[in-house]
Amino acid sequence: MIKKNNYNLLLSDLTKLKGVGKKTAELLKKKKIINILDLLWKLPKKYTDKSISTKIENIKIGEEQTVTITPYKYNFPRIRNLPNRVLCKDETGFLDCVFFNSYEGYIKKILPLGKQITINGKINFFRNKYQITNPKYISEDSNLIKTKHKKYSLTEGISENVYNKIINQIINNLPDLDEWHNQEILKNFNNVSWKEAVNLLHKPENIGKFQSSFYRRLAFDEIFSSFLVQSEIRKKIKKKKKKTKVIDIKLQNRFIQNLNFKLTEDQIKSINEINNDISSNQKMFRLLQGDVGSGKTIVAIIAAYNVINAGFQVAIMAPTEILARQHYSSIKKNFNSSINVEILSGQTNQKSRKKILNNLERNKINLLIGTHAIFQKKINFKNLGLIIIDEQHKFGVNQRKKLSDKGGDDCDILLMSATPIPRTLTMTIYGDMDISLIKQKPKFRKKVITYTKLDSKINEIINFIQKEISNGNQIFWVCPLIDESNKIDHSSAIKKFEYLKKIFPNKVDILHGKTEKLEKELILKKFLDEKIKILVSTTIIEVGIDFPNANVIIIENANKFGLSQLHQLRGRVGRGQKDSTCILMFKSSLSENARKRLNILKKNNDGFKISEEDMKLRGYGDVLGFKQSGLKIFKLADPVHNHDLFSLAEREIKRIERENENIGRFQTLMKLYDRADIINEMV
Ligand code: ADP
Ligand code: MG
Repeated sequence: MIKKNNYNLLLSDLTKLKGVGKKTAELLKKKKIINILDLLWKLPKKYTDKSISTKIENIKIGEEQTVTITPYKYNFPRIRNLPNRVLCKDETGFLDCVFFNSYEGYIKKILPLGKQITINGKINFFRNKYQITNPKYISEDSNLIKTKHKKYSLTEGISENVYNKIINQIINNLPDLDEWHNQEILKNFNNVSWKEAVNLLHKPENIGKFQSSFYRRLAFDEIFSSFLVQSEIRKKIKKKKKKTKVIDIKLQNRFIQNLNFKLTEDQIKSINEINNDISSNQKMFRLLQGDVGSGKTIVAIIAAYNVINAGFQVAIMAPTEILARQHYSSIKKNFNSSINVEILSGQTNQKSRKKILNNLERNKINLLIGTHAIFQKKINFKNLGLIIIDEQHKFGVNQRKKLSDKGGDDCDILLMSATPIPRTLTMTIYGDMDISLIKQKPKFRKKVITYTKLDSKINEIINFIQKEISNGNQIFWVCPLIDESNKIDHSSAIKKFEYLKKIFPNKVDILHGKTEKLEKELILKKFLDEKIKILVSTTIIEVGIDFPNANVIIIENANKFGLSQLHQLRGRVGRGQKDSTCILMFKSSLSENARKRLNILKKNNDGFKISEEDMKLRGYGDVLGFKQSGLKIFKLADPVHNHDLFSLAEREIKRIERENENIGRFQTLMKLYDRADIINEMV
């Protein structure tokens, strides 16, 4: 059993509990309840209050009820398969207690004639009479049934009784833990201790009290501990750099003046934040976050330019070959010939590759662009000062940590992401990094008009794209996988491809999950060079690529996507000079909720705002795509309802970092709330 003052036992195996054997433990494991502590966060959904007894005239059929009755007649038929009955009544009506497989002697003992007895069970109505079959509780003393019984959403194979017994066993033996929060923080929660809070959390009458001090305190513990873990990772990454980088601001400003557009304020702010990091004596580990089309690339290029001018090499990694090439050509255009830029990818031939590797080691290459090929073991830079990773959203925390070690002691790291996540979740997901945020879009950016259309009106869409094509425009046509469980189901895209090919001969091509990598690059290039007009695809069209000539995107089965995803897809168009259109197709008319969500999309063009609103409608799990994986970062906290707690936790972490406070007092908290694995798998 759980001893006092020992949190280790909270983390131990479920079989340590009385009444939990291997079998029960296995069943609970399926619900991701591994240790004793996990059980605590499984809250009762509702409780049946057996203390409230009903009169027979008010009885509710089909529900579990408590009634006080007087048995007045036994009916024991002595025929096999017929149940024994006890006829009972109160002053308002009649009710039978029905027993299968019970001895007469036993029945007579528990339901003596003429005595008032309180019973509890599920009410049926049979042959014009109320009855309770095999009553659950029978007692002469109605007080004995007054214990409130909590209803948990049960794991199959574990009865409610067993569940209640297990939970009560833990609650009654919670260890006293030293408080980890300071007075200032505790004030927000009426000074309720962890133990007291857990106790209150499981009290039947407290079910659903999400705004109570005890609930909020426990939610805060969860949030705070996840931020703390991230903060610790960040501290480890921010090592001292040995070599200093001196930024030549004059050169930078001349470079900026030569651009054919004016940088937005957010771009300038981000550049300044990055410059501060680069010239400081601590390693930069920064995320440049900005919606699709917000202009992250030029910010990264300027960072690269500054680091090169400070005498260091720079590496830029793109997620795909074609994006790497696009970066390569735009950088070539921007940099003067004194800066040596090379590209390295899976397609680079052996000879060029050898030459590139050689030149890298001899510091003859200033900037290397490529796919992940540029981080192979054999590749040695002479003097790498900055790694830039474009569209990093598929990296977990562990991968990021590894990356930070890769470049060596003097190398700064800049990650870029267009995945807009609600502000409240930024620290949870990116708390290991510093963040520069580009919120404004460049001026004069064309808006994408969004429409919804029923599948049955496809002819209108065909007419529309016919016009667009004759105006020299290009079209994306996206078909999501219909059946998520069968990932090789490309039939919908192939069907659509066949269909469109007939209408637009020689103008359509298709990309799907089975298209070979090399062929994929070829098709994308064909589209980029306007050799084809319509590109049908299943999987999401490569992030980050600029297709300035594509100005229409059609998304079939649009309700299969989350709003943020739809927004990202929509961001594939509207990058050039022309007006753009996004058409969302649906199989049938929209539900109320679906319409609400689509209106958010139609009215907003800001990915952050959209993800925030989407989260309010669907909950954060869905927005982050967690639901499928069964992962949940927080068991109690909710970014929508507890957004103030997220801010409070962020302020407290920042304060602790600023004041360089010892975090020893959080040891227990961090042990109890270790979510490192889950945080790592996020996003
Ligand atoms: P993303 O943030 O999605 O990576 P990009 O960096 O690819 O966006 O920028 C999208 C387009 O906007 C590019 O063609 C880029 O040249 C252009 N752009 C970037 N900044 C500005 C600006 N301040 N004014 C006008 N156009 C800009
Ligand atoms: Mg980009």
